[in-house]
Amino acid sequence: MVFRSLLDLYRLRRNQWLKLSELEKIQLRKLRRIIKHAYENVPYYRKLFDLAGIRPEDIKTARDLTKIPITTRLQLQQLPPEEIVAKGVDLNNCKKITTAGSSGIPLVVFLSDKDSNFYDMVWARASLANGKRLWDSTAYLKFHFPPKFCFERLGIWKKEIISVLDNPEKQIETLRRVRPDVIRGNAFGLVNLAKIIKQKGVGGMNPRLVFSMGSVLDHQSRELIESAFGAEVFDFYGTTEVGCIAWECSEKRGFHINIDTVVVELIKKARVAGPGEMGKIICTGLHSFTMPFIRYDTGDVGIANHEKCPCGRELPLLESIKGRADDFFISANGTLYSPSVIVNQIKLISGISQFRIIQRSLKDITAQVVPGKDFSQHTSKKIKETIGNIMGKDPSIEVEVLGVIPLDPSGKIRSLISKVKKEF
Ligand SMILES: [Zn+2]
Repeated sequence: MVFRSLLDLYRLRRNQWLKLSELEKIQLRKLRRIIKHAYENVPYYRKLFDLAGIRPEDIKTARDLTKIPITTRLQLQQLPPEEIVAKGVDLNNCKKITTAGSSGIPLVVFLSDKDSNFYDMVWARASLANGKRLWDSTAYLKFHFPPKFCFERLGIWKKEIISVLDNPEKQIETLRRVRPDVIRGNAFGLVNLAKIIKQKGVGGMNPRLVFSMGSVLDHQSRELIESAFGAEVFDFYGTTEVGCIAWECSEKRGFHINIDTVVVELIKKARVAGPGEMGKIICTGLHSFTMPFIRYDTGDVGIANHEKCPCGRELPLLESIKGRADDFFISANGTLYSPSVIVNQIKLISGISQFRIIQRSLKDITAQVVPGKDFSQHTSKKIKETIGNIMGKDPSIEVEVLGVIPLDPSGKIRSLISKVKKEF
């Protein structure tokens, strides 16, 4: 198993320097293989393809994927495992990972050791490209405890798991005791820790690198984390379903898409989004053999970047990831507002310890706020004004003062929640 993973890692690391045309050849070969596998072995995809009148051999290029209907998390959530897991798989021998379902009911993803070890190597490629070394220890700030990494038996890439449910003081104490070379966690958890580290002037952790993932990392949060931990931050984007999708290199010109392990489409109103346009991120996992994900709607929104990265890698770039489609606010005239536009403005208001803004309808927005030390009536007024300046005069804005905002099932607090249906 370890030998297999080392071979996978060697090939992945070699792939990152291939020409785009060579990468596309690898992608197409793997795409045809997974499409054939899903059609022959997974009842859900057999029915989906048959209903759409598609045969696996109709997928001759990655562009042909648009012939296959998109599958959402909700559709898969409602089906029993035997419909969505490949025939002949013994579920007792699979890793069963419940993904952070911020949309509601979480999705259970089944992964064989082979699939899971491969995706570990895809994450490892991104980490190694950004300075992680073989003997580095990593502290993972996680909600769920990940399965053991196959290299750990050899003493390589030791890891310490720190639960995001622990209070921040306990998390900091563990980090000071373990002194990891790398800290890896979602942006939300890292920002929370960084704030306390800065407030209390805590030192003694000295990580060399911080890897952020799991939520959008805005410029302000990146600076805060870098200054609190004294280490460079790299942002990664991925899901349990298809592994690491895209990652920043040291040039930070966007996110290199792992096109040798996943097909990423950016779709806007049922067509491919153009340069600079926001599109829904639709993924096909090329190594998800246990539970295939073909044209799977990640629920996230991103923008493509057609420039070449100066690092020399020809893995194409995603310019940015704008957050969950569900979290975008929409005005009565149909204008969409990316969560970061609103969140970054609210963050500038003093007197707020935590907040969550909920768009309940086109006419009704509630800002839930946990007061900070400078909170006053003026803070509430400023919140209303700020949201009004962005969203216009139509919605009525209420400020609700709370003692605490509970974490979502994903272990984060979504700063923006929209209950209004919208089309991307
Ligand atoms: Zn690059």
